[in-house]
Amino acid sequence: MTTVEAPASHLRENPFEIARDQLRRVAETFQIDANLVNVLQECKKSVGVSVPVGMDDGSVRVFQGYRVTHNIARGPSKGGIRYHPDVTLDEVKALAMWMTWKCALMGIPFGGAKGGVVCDPKRLSRGELERLTRRFTTEIINEIGPEKDIPAPDVGTTAAVMAWIFDTYSMNKGHSVLGVVTGKPLTIGGSLGREEATARGSLYCIRDVVAKGEFALEGARVVVQGFGNVGSYLAKFLAEDGALVIAVSDSGGGLHNSSGLDMKAVLAHKQETGALEGFRAAEAISNEELLLLECEILAPCALEQVITADNADRVRAKVICEGANGPVTPGADEILEDRGVLILPDILANAGGVVVSYFEWVQGLQEYFWKEEEVNQRLDDIITRAFDATWKLNEERGTGMRMAAYGLAVQRVAEATTTRGIYP
Ligand code: NAD
Repeated sequence: MTTVEAPASHLRENPFEIARDQLRRVAETFQIDANLVNVLQECKKSVGVSVPVGMDDGSVRVFQGYRVTHNIARGPSKGGIRYHPDVTLDEVKALAMWMTWKCALMGIPFGGAKGGVVCDPKRLSRGELERLTRRFTTEIINEIGPEKDIPAPDVGTTAAVMAWIFDTYSMNKGHSVLGVVTGKPLTIGGSLGREEATARGSLYCIRDVVAKGEFALEGARVVVQGFGNVGSYLAKFLAEDGALVIAVSDSGGGLHNSSGLDMKAVLAHKQETGALEGFRAAEAISNEELLLLECEILAPCALEQVITADNADRVRAKVICEGANGPVTPGADEILEDRGVLILPDILANAGGVVVSYFEWVQGLQEYFWKEEEVNQRLDDIITRAFDATWKLNEERGTGMRMAAYGLAVQRVAEATTTRGIYP
């Protein structure tokens, strides 16, 4: 039996410390009671499990898994499951806390959670991935449930992984439980529009900024880091809206063409080869260089902490749209704000996924499914309402968009906690 060791991490700073520090600064700005901050800066429950998996070669490997609930004051907890070699408990805790704020900012009745397994899904066969997922689900089966905690996809997990979670949970309960997980395939109770929802939410935020007269989307230069679920759809949607996508990247590196990439061709190439590398009508560019390209919209849609105090003064974007969670560190935030870069913060810009997950959960509970236009229209309503509230608070208080979004969210959770009271 071997235990999997984590390789060098992409995380330079402890993300949970960043998340707690953000909370303290929000509390100071919006005068939130210190007793409430004491409650909100902790995660309600953190579960660590070991996940033994029989590998195709006959060996058994043991993976480390986590499920963390940050807060349930506003409803059952909700959050994705990440499969990545760099997953740590503190990363999962930070992501869980950000989910609490995100759901509150959107006004949907959920608290925040997150899960993760330390593994590299690209190096696992389909059979190994399925066995890992079913065993991990079984290990956390008492933590999840449609009224309790509802997982969803995140980095490295797909609709197929959600299908195995749904099936494993349902087999154990003796009947199908549609509401236990979201991001399911359409054939087993997924929602139309869920796959594209996170990127669509980012698109709606960008359109809202454009509507404020910041710049025109037609011909705007766009740079997207990360070409998975969020990044690839966002690049596609922005190109369809007339923007000029000049650079995209995945973990293997990036593509750059200052006259604009042919997004249809790039998507076809990625689908065919599994990578961006090798696409002819572009120059290669590193992930570090890509972040520094002059553009109207820079959308980091991969992992945390890619824009830091080390490179923030060289970022030449007008707007940063945080498709990823936590891509800009607090040190970078200050520099960017001083330089007048408009940040669409993660809890606003990538909330489309959890909003349509909420729709999927509602549809599953009612066993009544909506048309795609209905899903997209309701998503736009919710995102635009949150955008407008954030914009207004920023205008009134001059706090910056991130502080305004976090301020609205934390105040709502604090209010719910006060209204419910501290048990017993
Ligand atoms: P994904 O696994 O589908 O895609 C991740 C992409 O990032 C891949 O293209 C990968 O190659 C690339 N990548 C990985 N490491 C990289 C690196 N060092 N440099 C550049 N690219 C790198 O994941 P996803 O679901 O698209 O999630 C991306 C981000 O969006 C994460 O921060 C996630 O938490 C956030 N997010 C996702 C959702 C969702 O619904 N999927 C919702 C909200 C937020």
